[in-house]
Parts: sequence; structure tokens; C-alpha cells
Amino acid sequence: MISEFKNTTYLDFSQSANKQAMEEALKFVESQFSREYPLFINGKDVKTGDLFKSYNPCEKTQTVGTFHKAGKKEVDMAMEAGWVAFESWKNVDPKERAIVLFKAAEIMRRRRHELNAWMVLEASKNWNEADGETAEAIDFLDFYGREMLRYFERQPIVPQPGELNELVYIPLGAGVVIPPWNFPLAILTGMTCAAIVTGNPVLLKPASDTPTIGYKLVEIFQEAGLPDGVLNYIPGSGGAIGDYLVTHPKTRFIAFTGSMEVGLRINQLAATPQKGQLWIKRVIAEMGGKDAIVVDDEADLASAVEGVAVGAFGFQGQKCSACSRAIIHEKVYDEFVQRLAERVRKITVGPVVNPANWMGAVMSAGAQEKIMSYIEIGKKEGKLVIGGEIGPDAGYFIKPTVFKDVPATGRISCEEIFGPVLAVTKARDLDEAIEFANATDYGLTGAVYTRNRFKIEKAKREFHCGNLYVNRKCTGAMVGGHPFGGFNMSGTDSKAGGRDYLLLFLQAKSIAEKL
Ligand code: NAP
Repeated sequence: MISEFKNTTYLDFSQSANKQAMEEALKFVESQFSREYPLFINGKDVKTGDLFKSYNPCEKTQTVGTFHKAGKKEVDMAMEAGWVAFESWKNVDPKERAIVLFKAAEIMRRRRHELNAWMVLEASKNWNEADGETAEAIDFLDFYGREMLRYFERQPIVPQPGELNELVYIPLGAGVVIPPWNFPLAILTGMTCAAIVTGNPVLLKPASDTPTIGYKLVEIFQEAGLPDGVLNYIPGSGGAIGDYLVTHPKTRFIAFTGSMEVGLRINQLAATPQKGQLWIKRVIAEMGGKDAIVVDDEADLASAVEGVAVGAFGFQGQKCSACSRAIIHEKVYDEFVQRLAERVRKITVGPVVNPANWMGAVMSAGAQEKIMSYIEIGKKEGKLVIGGEIGPDAGYFIKPTVFKDVPATGRISCEEIFGPVLAVTKARDLDEAIEFANATDYGLTGAVYTRNRFKIEKAKREFHCGNLYVNRKCTGAMVGGHPFGGFNMSGTDSKAGGRDYLLLFLQAKSIAEKL
């Protein structure tokens, strides 16, 4: 009997046992930094000799892992392995496939501190952010495993006279999973396990900044007993092998999460049939955001300030759901800005191996450069309230930065910066605030703070985003509770962690047998 799905509880690092376990895990992970990782294709290690490294963003020169890079030859090998594995994996009882996910979840629970430590050191997540992510990865495995059991049940269908009618869900075939670096375990696990549990072999190309964390999932699925060829790990630069993976005539689907630019390119390339291609490729693309929190004059200001500060600067603002715009009713604008500045001043920035540091470094030199260039734009478009500078030189640190009096049409109000930069804009009333909130190309998350019931109803109707929150921050979606996915250029609204998600990896077959 499988128990009902429940979200994983977060660890409390104020408890000495958890703190000590985490410190030991950090030491263990650091002892692994000299490891070299092969590709993993058809159950075997493959080495190409073409190497790249991943680094600790808080210690620019510290190598975290060294990786062999896949080229076209290895993509072909992995594709071949995937389609061979498909012939048997598609026929494995979905209950058995679900059990592999439940086992993987159990292994993650056992290795939880270690996985957290990898995210602290390779992605610069603070301890709580890292643990929240491991918890989310476990939840995806537990949730999609149960979802598969539901899709496998007899589906309701209107009986036709003289016929036995059925509708069954069958897998698509071998496909490609392309995750981002900002949720290097949770999103990578979510997309991969959804494909696998529905019967589809995967070619997993991790983000090049966080390949070690991706490799951990390969280890975990191997231990959970996943057959050879069902999960093939092919790290390499998206710019170099991405197009080849996407346009490959044998690619059946592409599950992508990342930037709008890359997502749109994938969508366009996948739409053109290649010689020998037998299907319309399925594209699941979850992309960027420019998420706003609206604060009304009838809001609880203390709670709104806290929600904006945590939503904007948690994980250095590098969440697709991060609050990058605060749109504030003019009656409370000055007070809000002053209280926000006081709150942001208390944020600690530094290497996240030390749990006293709440904000770590941004991901890379490229990210730091891009964010600093937006800070220069912000200085022209608005008034700098706090921050605006880089932090200690050892890592890619940027201080939490707030600009006020930014026009709703400004570049820092409309373009995704993906860093710790918040644009604060004044609005006449709630109607204008929602109008500003909706005025970007994106539509991923949003939040509104007000105590007024009519205004809450209005926001629920008119704030156009895939994940809307009322009187709470706009980050922190829970698997099962807040199915996640955006409108407009934020993506295909796949609603990861929701009941519709597995359908994206399945096709329905209708069968009518004459009696
Ligand atoms: P990215 O630059 O678009 O990269 C995402 C993935 O695509 C990486 O694995 C990357 O590989 C690969 N890639 C790059 N070029 C490619 C190409 N031409 N063809 C195929 N794949 C290619 O995004 P990112 O910087 O990793 O992640 C940040 C972005 O993700 C932000 O825009 C954020 O909002 C978005 N995001 C969205 C969600 C959501 O649910 N909507 C969740 C998380 C993040 P390399 O690493 O080798 O370049």
C-alpha cells in the first residue's frame, strides 16, 4: 500500500545534530573535488578526453568537478541506447517504474546532507535553500511516482453500445532533458523522473555550471535499479551540442527549463521536421520571469516588506520566480521603501559554507558582469537606495541592490536580470499596479499584498501570471500544492508538480473492441 503524498519537511539547522551532519557533509564533498566524471551511456562510463570543469562560485578558483564532454558521436550513442532501452522500458509495469522513483527518493533522503553540501559548494546556495531544493527533488520523485499509478488506472470513458471502450496512456519514446543551473537538483530530477516514470528513456544534458549535482542523480538512479540505457548522462556545452540534440531526427521530446532566448530557439528548431523524423516533437519549455509583488495601501506592510526582501534576494535573486519588481501604492510608498532598506541592510553576504551568510555569490563571472551592467542601467533609470556594488573578490558576490522610482517601462522593470536587483515602482492605485505588473513579456509568478477582499478578488482575476500568491512571497512553490509554470514568454505553462504534468510525456490511445 502506497501512502498518500506528503511534502518533505525541511531540516532545522539550529539543531546541533543537523548542523554537525551538514558540516561533515561539506568536508566530505570538498574531499571529492579532484574527481573526474565520465559520461554515462547505456549503463557504461564513457570518456572522451575533452574536459571541462565546474567551480565554486564563492571561491572562483576552486574546482568542484572535472567532466568529460559529449560530442555528436556520444549523442548518437546515447540516442541509440535510449531507443533500444525503450523497447523494454515501455512495457515495464508502471507500478515497477514508480517503485524505482520511490527507491530513488529513499536514497536521496539517506544522502540528503551530502546533496545539500554539493549545492552549497557548486551552486552557492545557503544551507536552507540547498535543503529546500533537496526536499523538492524528493517530492518530485514521490509525487510523480504516485501520479503514474493514477494514470495507469482505468480511465473514465463513455461506453459505446456493443463495444468495450478503453483509453490508455502510453509513452512517447527517447527524449532530451535540458535543465538550468539554478535548481540543479530539483528541476533536473523533476523533468528526468517524469520522463522515466512514464516509460521514456532520457538523454540528460546538465547545465555546464552544475554538472556534478546532475551526476549525483545518475548515481542515485543506478543504485535504485534503473535499467541500462534508460538514463544517459551527456554533459557538454548547450551552445555546442544543444542544436544537435534538439534537431536530431530521433529526438521524440525535449523537456527544457532555462532562459527565454534558448527556449524559443529550441521551440523553433524542434518545429522543423528532419529527414527520417516520424513525429511532431513534443516541446516542454519553462522559461524566464520578471515577477512582481504588488503592495496595496491596505496591506500589512511588515509582512509585505519581509515577502519582498526574501522573494527578491533569496538565492541571490537567481530564481525564475524571484521578485524583481515591487509595485507599491503611492500612499505607502515612502514608508515601504524606508522599511525595505532597513530590512535589506541586515542581509549577510559571503561564502555560504558559513551558515551565517544568507546570500552567497552569483553563479559565474558572466552572470556577475551581466548583473552589474543592469545595475549601471538602473542608476540611470531610477535612484539607488542600497547596494549596487560587488562583494569580496574571492567569489562572484553582489550586494543586494534596490532601486526606487523606476518607471514601469524601464529596462530594469521589463528585462530579466536574474540577480539580486530589485526595481521599486510607484502606482496610483491597485488597478494601475496590476497594469504595471502585467506589462512585460513574461508571466510566471506574482504576488499581491492587501487586506481588502474586493481587491484580492480583482487581483485573482486580472493579475496575469501562472503562479499568483496573495499576502505571501512569490517564491517557494511546493510540489503538489503549487503546480508551477508560466504564461506568455515564461513558457508552456507545464505546471510541474501538478496533476497535468505527466500527460506531457504521454500519448493517449483510444481502443474500441466490438463485442
Ligand atoms: P540557459 O542559459 O537558457 O540554459 C539552460 C540550459 O540550456 C543549460 O543546460 C544550457 O547548457 C542549455 N543550452 C544553452 N544553449 C542551448 C542551445 N542552443 N540548445 C539547447 N540547450 C542549450 O538558462 P540558465 O542560465 O541555465 O538558467 C537561468 C534561466 O532559467 C532564467 O531565465 C530562469 O528564469 C530560467 N528558469 C526558469 C524556470 C521555470 O520553471 N520557468 C525555472 C528555473 C530557471 P549550458 O549550461 O551548457 O549552456
